Amino acid sequence: MLKIPLTTLSILTAGRKQIEHLFSGPRIPIWLLVNFCVGISVGIIGINRCRRGDHQRRITALLSATALLSGGMATAQRTPPSNPQLASPAIERRVDDLLKKMSLEEKIGQLVQYNDAGYTEPGNAAQIAANPEAHNQVNAMDLAATGRLGSMLNTIGAERTNAFQHAAVEKSRLHIPLLFGADVIHGFRTIYPQPLGLAATFDPDLVTALCHMSAEEATTAGIRWFYSPMVDISRDARWGRTTEGAGEDPYLGSAMARAYIRGYQQDDLSKPDSVAASVKHFAAYGAAEAGREYNTTDMSEIRLRQVYLPPYEAAVKAGAATIMSAFNALNGVPASANPFLLQKILRDEWGFDGFVVSDYTAVMELVNHGIALDAATATRKAFLAGVDVDMMSHFYDTQLAGLVRSGQVPMSAVDEAVRRVLRVKFALGIFEHPYARGTEVTAAVPEHRPLVRRAAEESFVLLKNDAALLPLSQQAHKIALIGPLADNSGEMQGAWGGANRAPDVITVKQALDARAKQYGGSVIYAKGTDILGASDDGFAEAVNAAKQADVVIMALGESGEMSGEAGSRAHLDLPGNQEQLLEAVAAAGKPIVLLVFSGRPLVLTSAARHIPAIMETWFPGTEAGSAIADVLYGDVSPSGKLPMSFPRAVGQEPLYYNHFPTGRPALHVDLTKPPSDAASRFVSRYIDAPNDALFPFGFGLSYTRFTYGKVSLSHVSLTQSEANRKDGQKLITATTTVTNSGDRAATEVVQCYVRNQGASVEQPVRSLKGFARVTLQPGESKQVSFNLGFPELSFYNVQSKAVIGPTHYTVWIGGSSLATDEASFDVR
Ligand code: BGC
Repeated sequence: MLKIPLTTLSILTAGRKQIEHLFSGPRIPIWLLVNFCVGISVGIIGINRCRRGDHQRRITALLSATALLSGGMATAQRTPPSNPQLASPAIERRVDDLLKKMSLEEKIGQLVQYNDAGYTEPGNAAQIAANPEAHNQVNAMDLAATGRLGSMLNTIGAERTNAFQHAAVEKSRLHIPLLFGADVIHGFRTIYPQPLGLAATFDPDLVTALCHMSAEEATTAGIRWFYSPMVDISRDARWGRTTEGAGEDPYLGSAMARAYIRGYQQDDLSKPDSVAASVKHFAAYGAAEAGREYNTTDMSEIRLRQVYLPPYEAAVKAGAATIMSAFNALNGVPASANPFLLQKILRDEWGFDGFVVSDYTAVMELVNHGIALDAATATRKAFLAGVDVDMMSHFYDTQLAGLVRSGQVPMSAVDEAVRRVLRVKFALGIFEHPYARGTEVTAAVPEHRPLVRRAAEESFVLLKNDAALLPLSQQAHKIALIGPLADNSGEMQGAWGGANRAPDVITVKQALDARAKQYGGSVIYAKGTDILGASDDGFAEAVNAAKQADVVIMALGESGEMSGEAGSRAHLDLPGNQEQLLEAVAAAGKPIVLLVFSGRPLVLTSAARHIPAIMETWFPGTEAGSAIADVLYGDVSPSGKLPMSFPRAVGQEPLYYNHFPTGRPALHVDLTKPPSDAASRFVSRYIDAPNDALFPFGFGLSYTRFTYGKVSLSHVSLTQSEANRKDGQKLITATTTVTNSGDRAATEVVQCYVRNQGASVEQPVRSLKGFARVTLQPGESKQVSFNLGFPELSFYNVQSKAVIGPTHYTVWIGGSSLATDEASFDVR
């Protein structure tokens, strides 16, 4: 299984011949040139005032100036800075001063990124044809010392980062510090659940606290830049990177995106324990066709804007300092050379102030995408589209200077990209404090364990609990603990486990041994099989353990590396022969609690038929075992809710709750049976499986029972003009009462869904538009309200404009996407 962890390189590209040299940068139309003669002096003022002097903005400034001169009424439309710190005049003065002193090579250096080892892969014939330089190993230390390196990735340990920093700061001519980036995705040394698990908490404040914690840890190793958050919406469980994001819903994804940025950047990049975020992978990488990694994506602009872009936009608006351009092509144009994404949406519409880094060798991969036949063209296309920094392609450092000298890339564009990088470096304060701060954190931090334990507990989703098998009674009994994940420290950390250390992890076995002993009971452990096991040699021992026990806990699922990058699967069942192990143990007739470890929704159809209790635990991190024991024994009631639909069969994928309606909905048809007549056949359905999820989005059980009152709305109708006030954050308030009708204190994630019918464009059957975690004592009730404003109620029309039309809205509030209590209102 290929993983690209902290130090491993993967070079994945090919290409040929140098034949394409046409400059395809921004062109200035004739009419504008004519006006330019009249308005040149004002235009120059416009340019100088335009702090973000990229091409587009220069042209916008010229346009405004000429329009004013020729009697037009246009005024320059400036989107407000996405991060005021990066727009600070004080920083701009420092950038100006520095830029004046820099040679072309030094400027390009700021746009080049390598890892510790430099470029080590031997390269294949096609790669060498595309760029004879690309396969040569570079000496990153030498580049740093000569001002030809701007940033480094996945260089771990204060000693290494300080050594490189020393070369940059002490030896290079202009003493510009390096920026060290790393894939700190769900913890640095103290590991918490992977982002999909975090999304199941529906707890953005918790996520912020965790992100701040990991920033505190990683900055002691000199890292000031995280390649996180991944905010790619994924609706297809086959795609392995679902584990790195918040799942299928744009509203939840946006809330999580903001939470990550707050935690990493703390609204002040200059704090020594703040890190710059890199929001990835821009854009729509999660829509890879057939869930196959790195595959193409193709979608309407409405879907792009309504489903895939919101979390990126939320992150940018929250001040994200950098963005990573994606590997995939979007509608035929690779995202890493896509001006529509990188210029029009990111810069012009959202006013993004930070810099864009390519994904790993994504510039080089433009040759494989077939939009460049040689390294120079790939470089020109990526750079002019808006990729500021080249991660590992070895293209900008070998091609950009030549392109500038031959006039194919304007020097002003290089200056602008360098400015963007320098602004982030100044904002982070690394010119003043270039070295790793404080005492280096080299292992899981004891003080951080309670927080990651709580995160794990909140992330677990109880999927089934027949006859209240859980919680286990805190009395002496014999537990059989079975499965390849029961005593497995490494796998508890999942994919992208930071600079994790398996010995720091508490396994399920360790925690249950201690707990059972505390209550006078015991644990009999049997591994049973391996994660990808084929042999049933261990089955007999497992069955024997089950026979001796009062209750069986089975820890089954994926390895961490079965999800994450390059972890796409065509099958979604329990891997290896774990299904068979489960059946063999079930035949012993003892009650079974199935703990599922996975980086994605699995197909649990067979288990759900007869295993009484099932809990999805994702990959819980350093405190895995303790958190699982807390929930199994009922110290904490589970409160997690699914951030992705769990399918009944892999053929249902992509499966998501917020789908569009069809002209032939299967409304009154029993989809568990094959069609038997025209009425049950000619509807939108499968003939061999139901349409719905086995466990839907937003679903998760508790040890108590929550009941919901009626939904009430503040208004029964709105006028269109009231509704279209874009500042309208609070057009309608929807309220309900939630009661804990059981006998245990517990937390419920109350969810608000909206449907809009009668619009010019069809809308999803329902969409999440609000959620709140509410903790209730037994018998306690609370009123919960959701404000629905323009962002929640608007939709994109065919002109890609967000509007509210004269339509009918239904609002549901409940404990999952199947909520049934509803109320409605109209916009007239
Ligand atoms: C991944 C990114 C990651 C980068 C640096 C790439 O292969 O797609 O998510 O940040 O490597 O490690």
